[in-house]
Amino acid sequence: MVHHFQYRHGELYAEDVAIADIASEVGTPFYLYSRATFTRHIKVMQEAFADRPTLVAYAVKANSNQAILKLVASLGAGADVVSLGELMRAERAGIPSDKIVFSGVAKTHEEIAYALNMGIKCFNAESEPELLRINEVAKSLGKIAPVSVRINPNVDAKTHAKISTGKAENKFGIPFERANEVYQTIAECDHLKAVGIDMHIGSQITDLEPFDNAFKLMAELVEKLGNAGHKIEHIDVGGGLGIPYDNSNQVPPEPMAYAQIVRKNLNHLDCEIVLEPGRMVAGNAGIFITKVEYVKEGAERQFVIVDAGMNDLLRPTLYESYHTVQPVKEDAKLQERMGDVVGPVCETGDYIAKGRHLPHVEEGDLLAVMSAGAYGAVMSGTYNTRPLCAEVMVDGDQFHIIRPRQTYEDLIGQDSVPDWL
Ligand SMILES: *Cc1c(COP(=O)(O)O)cnc(C)c1O
Repeated sequence: MVHHFQYRHGELYAEDVAIADIASEVGTPFYLYSRATFTRHIKVMQEAFADRPTLVAYAVKANSNQAILKLVASLGAGADVVSLGELMRAERAGIPSDKIVFSGVAKTHEEIAYALNMGIKCFNAESEPELLRINEVAKSLGKIAPVSVRINPNVDAKTHAKISTGKAENKFGIPFERANEVYQTIAECDHLKAVGIDMHIGSQITDLEPFDNAFKLMAELVEKLGNAGHKIEHIDVGGGLGIPYDNSNQVPPEPMAYAQIVRKNLNHLDCEIVLEPGRMVAGNAGIFITKVEYVKEGAERQFVIVDAGMNDLLRPTLYESYHTVQPVKEDAKLQERMGDVVGPVCETGDYIAKGRHLPHVEEGDLLAVMSAGAYGAVMSGTYNTRPLCAEVMVDGDQFHIIRPRQTYEDLIGQDSVPDWL
């Protein structure tokens, strides 16, 4: 079982709670997470490396709710953050600062200072100007900043162009050919200490070969840098492992197979391994529940119009991504006719599923959009003045609203009208 969202007595359950019961209390739409699934995904990674120094630094951007981060902290995992906001979230959830790494291409003075004062494990630096800025801020605070250089290995991760990050044409990292030079620059900066090296080649990667190639290159680089006098204490392999979204399509490698590739290439080095999984941890630990408002028979296809839009779940619009859509009532038969699941937002791109044989549903029925735990709630917005939807976590037979639905007052009351209008 890959997750804890299964049918029982003809109804979809999240762990031991009937989803229809949650919907009647919380309203729709909402994100729904399984604590057990989330926990298992973190543990799989920790256990695969239990015999050697390793840090699982959960990529906070995949799902940054405080309840999720509290769970991450309780499992002994760390965090990979990409903004001051995420750093504050990790701090508030009790993730120890020495388990936090800070990634991202555009770190501001304020972000660097905050992270230095907190005493984070490492800055994953993405450019030389950034390194110089970190040095300058550290100097002004009388600190030594631990840094790692993000290497761009120029490998093709064979994933969607918008989530491919390890090619020479992408904005991320420093070309691997220049690594030695950049570590030399760090050695010459009084307020920097090179502690690691890192990479992250993309997301939703379903083929182990790009990882294999990139890790091999990293291992060679670590040895070369060592020979040049730059001792590397940790190797951060980033995240990127894909998850199944469409069961009929190519199935991504199991986390264990991925872990084997990491070990094969890096285990022999005297370095801590840092992993930054995001999607692999959160993706299948969450689903998204929406209610059918109308069923409309269009000229060419049927439209199942639901109460959730691209503001709630952006992935289909942004990445043409596929999410399996399941009825909450199991006996809903598949339609003969093709259909789309579309939302209320006034954009043609506002859809959840396109050109599918959908279950037969009626007004008021609930649909579960599967594999929505990562890059779902965190990307939601308020376009069309639609409140941010609710988020719920289940644990066995109990559930808790971990973010209430935004109120209209929250949404509109922030605007300020000048007195000259
Ligand atoms: C997004 C990101 C991750 C997580 O990627 P997943 O595909 O969700 O595992 C890890 N590291 C960095 C630097 C990232 O930007």
